[in-house]
Amino acid sequence: MRASKPIPNDSALHEGETTQTTCGGCELLCEDLSVQSIKNRTGCTVADKWFTPNAIPAETTIDGKKASLHEAIKVAATRLLSAHRPLLTGLASTTIDTIQIACRIADCIDAAVDANAHDNSFLTAPTTIRVGKVSADFEELRDRADLAIFWGVDPSIKSTRFIERFIQPKLHDGSRRTISVGMTPAIAPSLHNLHFPVPEDQLISLARLVDAQLTQKRVRDSSCDLRDIANQLKNSIDAARCVGFVSTKTVETTGLVNWSLSQLIRSLAHQKPCFEIPLNQSASLGGGNLAGAGAVCTWRFGSSGAIPLASSSGSMFLPAETDAQRLIKRNEIDCIFIVGRISPQIKELLTKSSDPKSVIHITDESNQTTFENSVRLGCASLSDSTKGSMLRSDGRLVSLRPFASACVPSIQNILNELLHRIAADVRNEGST
Ligand code: SF4
Repeated sequence: MRASKPIPNDSALHEGETTQTTCGGCELLCEDLSVQSIKNRTGCTVADKWFTPNAIPAETTIDGKKASLHEAIKVAATRLLSAHRPLLTGLASTTIDTIQIACRIADCIDAAVDANAHDNSFLTAPTTIRVGKVSADFEELRDRADLAIFWGVDPSIKSTRFIERFIQPKLHDGSRRTISVGMTPAIAPSLHNLHFPVPEDQLISLARLVDAQLTQKRVRDSSCDLRDIANQLKNSIDAARCVGFVSTKTVETTGLVNWSLSQLIRSLAHQKPCFEIPLNQSASLGGGNLAGAGAVCTWRFGSSGAIPLASSSGSMFLPAETDAQRLIKRNEIDCIFIVGRISPQIKELLTKSSDPKSVIHITDESNQTTFENSVRLGCASLSDSTKGSMLRSDGRLVSLRPFASACVPSIQNILNELLHRIAADVRNEGST
């Protein structure tokens, strides 16, 4: 039996959308992929991984042994309710509706919640939020910015379609120049695409230097090389009509690189159209809906993640303290509830962990390691046959367009069943 058949299913497709589908593989949530290109490789390595059909369906198992879905849901509910310190994570590969149900379960079982977003793992996340960003959507960058500056380039940007979709298209009224500031160029250097090799630990000083030049402030001494780069940046910015800064995830965890860039953009936005496109998601997270997970958690619990105890009446936000990776590393949880595809970082931590944990995993992947003391609930394909919406990282709501039929329940149905089972068990416990 297959979990999902990659056969076009007319009932799963909307009228007029017979050849196009949406990719949920990364934060760009591309809506222009054709079903045909998926069968023949899309040209995007992350998408090819996202759509890889499972040769064998994701089985439902209890402690490695095949089980019925009904039995597995019963055991999963018992284990989640008996855990002293559960953690809900995953979420990035699922839809907003699914995340809402998962958060209701977290509320019932007093779980910690963290979808493994980069922002929740560094201390200054709240400061960065307070400072605020002047941002725009991806299309604004594509249609308006005649200068795109990649700030601290994450090489994984090249394995997505960001440059193809939002930098390469021509502007209506002129040409676009790019500048890569960082050790790796985002685009091969040429007359129109400059590269300034600046190590990450100098990005804060560079942002302050450029800011000082734009606002004619004095700054303390800095190296000639950095001053020269700041000069060239200023000249390019002066010559541009509209500037888009593309920032990516940084290795440093103080958040100061992002903070100093936000300050520079705020100064510059007083002089000309200027905005930031923050690409904070690693392309290897196993799903593109981290923004959706953050939005649901913020609406329900008051913060985007790093929540030590889920409560709809308000939860604490403890960035760099109760993010998923730290909780697992410090062995502070005894049960991990993974909804959707598992990120490589969490998988590695669980594989290495010396402290055994109970694992409840709802997944469409058949090739996942089976952890000891685990319940795996196999669901329909998240990439081919799941309906619903995801939130692009610039805030745009994007609908998935499933193109294959499934012969096992969707992740949403399984979570609903699990929620009902947990609620019934809680009621029974209360009445005895
Ligand atoms: S860039 Fe991201 S969303 Fe677009 S096709 Fe590639 S993986 Fe999918």
